[in-house]
Amino acid sequence: MEKKIVIATKNQGKVKEFAKAFSALSVKIVPLSDFGNLPDAIEDGNSFRENALIKAHFYAEKTKLPCLADDSGLVVDILNGEPGVYSARYAGDRAGDAANNEKLVQKIKEKGALKSPARFCCALAYCDFSGNELVTEGLCEGEVRLTARGAAGFGYDPYFYPQGQGEKSMAELSLEEKNAISHRGRALQQMLKLLLPPKYQKEAK
Ligand code: IMP
Repeated sequence: MEKKIVIATKNQGKVKEFAKAFSALSVKIVPLSDFGNLPDAIEDGNSFRENALIKAHFYAEKTKLPCLADDSGLVVDILNGEPGVYSARYAGDRAGDAANNEKLVQKIKEKGALKSPARFCCALAYCDFSGNELVTEGLCEGEVRLTARGAAGFGYDPYFYPQGQGEKSMAELSLEEKNAISHRGRALQQMLKLLLPPKYQKEAK
């Protein structure tokens, strides 16, 4: 029987990335939206890892399926690591990407800088009802600039310029290119090695 895994996120940008990464594998990815209006997990951990585990356990319990959850965000050096675990709600609980990006740009300007080294971080947690609990982590180093470029991706992508991609921002990369270098893509490659039999691992690129 085909293995089913719930992807514990309501963020459509992340759902797209996971669906693409799993597209060559015989694993059925089930989005949270298939379960109606589930409550949000309370992400009160102090690290990406803690929050990913909180979400994986919460939604496995709610959906009764094995669950893969990520917690991710942007860590900016000149802002002493902000927005970090508060990336999704940097400009307030109901803030969207535009308001969060505006606050990011404003904070960097207040420091008198035009850019700062930064990285996207991702912790990915998996849990199932056989008692398996796995966590992997991935980083994508780069810099944040005050000017936005590109329209792909989501969140802080237009302001983040990953290392090794020339002058391209993350929002100028295709989904495939982003998955190959992103924090989530890297954490996911590690996770697939732990989750899937070796014959699938080559195809999971
Ligand atoms: P989470 O859903 O609680 O993990 O919050 C993640 C937040 O971090 C998102 O809402 C974005 O603001 C930001 N973020 C995480 N990954 C990415 C990415 O790949 N690109 C842009 N922003 C991201």
